[in-house]
Amino acid sequence: APIVSVQKLTKTYGNGFEALKGVDLDIEEGEILALLGPNGAGKTTLISIICGIVNPSSGSVLVGGHDVVKDFRQTRSLIGLVPQELTTDQFETVWNTVSFSRGVYGKKPDPALIESVLKDLSLWSKKDNMIRELSGGMKRRVLIAKALSHEPKILFLDEPTAGVDVNLRREMWQVVEKLRANGVTIILTTHYIEEAEEIADRVGVINGGQLLLIEKKTALMKKL
Ligand code: ADP
Ligand code: ADP
Repeated sequence: APIVSVQKLTKTYGNGFEALKGVDLDIEEGEILALLGPNGAGKTTLISIICGIVNPSSGSVLVGGHDVVKDFRQTRSLIGLVPQELTTDQFETVWNTVSFSRGVYGKKPDPALIESVLKDLSLWSKKDNMIRELSGGMKRRVLIAKALSHEPKILFLDEPTAGVDVNLRREMWQVVEKLRANGVTIILTTHYIEEAEEIADRVGVINGGQLLLIEKKTALMKKL
């Protein structure tokens, strides 16, 4: 069974805006899926609903077989979310930021796990630094470390490389490859076609609240 199953999903915000107009999407365990679309397409709305942050207007979303609205505790523990904004406390250390995040999910402290997450993301030497002392790329990696602190099976990255330079974008791609090698299912949103092309197994094209097509990368590139 797919690890994420989205059926006939719609979202109309309080102001009447229809951000999603009936999306069907199955995500297989272990794949890297890119959701490609321009600003305002509905990408953040879609992943926010799958992550249990925003309620759908209609339709259903199952994560690991659990309903994201009714069983949000179970589904949220399977999910790590890396938000678009750099939202961590600037005056906290890297170590504390990532360890506390694990606690939020009700998981027991696991210093060895936190150590391995920080090492995988090349943040180990910065563990005692405050967030404010880090470069932009390191701050983004801290957000990823936070999202991985409770050992999720699925990782969502919302526009991981929006507004970052070419070097940083390559660095993020390498991080994603490494995570995949660890068996994490990865869904990222992007408006860069090169990004979708470079790292994803499958690409879903979203515009105007609809999933226009979803293809294995090679098939997609022939169509665009
Ligand atoms: P819902 O209908 O799901 O409860 P709301 O329409 O009440 O959602 O909006 C939730 C929040 O998002 C509010 O704080 C609102 O100010 C904010 N918001 C409104 N319009 C936008 C927008 N275009 N983009 C992002 N956030 C918005
Ligand atoms: P994307 O991530 O593809 O840029 P979003 O899902 O953030 O798209 O937004 C889709 C559309 O929904 C946009 O037009 C946005 O302004 C609108 N929107 C997002 N959040 C809200 C909200 N809370 N209330 C009203 N409109 C919203």
